[in-house]
Amino acid sequence: MFLYQNIFYLVRGNTQAIWLLKGVEGRLGKKNRMIMLSVHGMQLDELKEWMSLQGHKPFHAQQLIEWIYAKGILDPALMTTFSLKLRELIAKELSLQTIRCVKTCLSDDGETEKFLWELADGLHVESVLISSDTRRTVCVSSQVGCPARCSFCASGKQGLLRQLSTGEIIEQVYHIDRVLKEKGERVCHVVFMGMGEPLENYEAVVKALRLLSDADRLCIGQRRITVSTVGVVPGIERFAEEGLQVNLALSLHAPSQHLRKKIIPYARKYSLEEVLKAVDLFAKKTKRDITYEYTMLAGINDSPSHAEELAELLRGQKCTVNLIPYNPIDGVRFGRPEGGDIEAFRDILSDLGVRTTWRYTKGKDIAAACGQLALVGGRG
Ligand code: SF4
Repeated sequence: MFLYQNIFYLVRGNTQAIWLLKGVEGRLGKKNRMIMLSVHGMQLDELKEWMSLQGHKPFHAQQLIEWIYAKGILDPALMTTFSLKLRELIAKELSLQTIRCVKTCLSDDGETEKFLWELADGLHVESVLISSDTRRTVCVSSQVGCPARCSFCASGKQGLLRQLSTGEIIEQVYHIDRVLKEKGERVCHVVFMGMGEPLENYEAVVKALRLLSDADRLCIGQRRITVSTVGVVPGIERFAEEGLQVNLALSLHAPSQHLRKKIIPYARKYSLEEVLKAVDLFAKKTKRDITYEYTMLAGINDSPSHAEELAELLRGQKCTVNLIPYNPIDGVRFGRPEGGDIEAFRDILSDLGVRTTWRYTKGKDIAAACGQLALVGGRG
């Protein structure tokens, strides 16, 4: 009966959990019974409905959220406002923690920390905490591996292994936030720039965006969240209609379709023209400025003529180009441009009226910088 109830519930409210039911259980086999709903991935209404289905009062849903998020309690046995019966039911049927930190690496300057998480099925993903004077930003993964297979990126090397659920995405932020809370700090920004292409895990990511900004949970304002995409046109168009206020970053990396196709396999699927049109639609609908990520690869996309071509491509747009000097990874043939070349590139863009930032590379020594996240942790 309970299994029936769970499936009934899943069908109605949690498509990501249905995916887990089909995919993860298949891999784990029947003896590892792990189909539990992650509270972190459930909206309050879904949790209320679950309580009702189990014969408990819906208001316990709000109390459960408070135990987890306001009090930081993940052990149902300690939730003393609940009856013993409800505590046992929560422990048996709901998951309050589905990912576990198995390794952390701190950069030499202490400003970047990489977290390696083990998922319930034994796979791994990584997140990165980037600290500055004023900000604590968490870079989260949205998939295990990545289907985009960008030629310069460690995460794309093995392709997509599976989607992350909403709960698994949220928990990356939740657990890091708990670590920070002990020091009197909080996560204030989230970027979806870790492993995976967020818009290829659309439902789970959009649900995570709404839950991250929930005032009773992590309360991270949507304007402080950035989703980075390699250019999944249907995803961007759909994203524009969600009524969210999050920022969009497009991984551009080349000023022409011809060159982009050589670096990003997805460019064969979605042309630069189509991608820019979708991004423009997003900017108009949401009134958010766009950031273009541009990984600089020595001798590939870093010449003055590339800078001029890029300025021409983006002429008239309210946007920022974020220059990211390439971070070397094992087995990849690209090189990092000289500092002088990056400066010259930036100056050309600025002279031609394009707002440009040059991302100071953090976490390079622990393989936590852009494009370096892989399925198993870096040095440390
Ligand atoms: S750069 Fe981003 S989209 Fe491309 S393979 Fe890496 S994780 Fe995927």
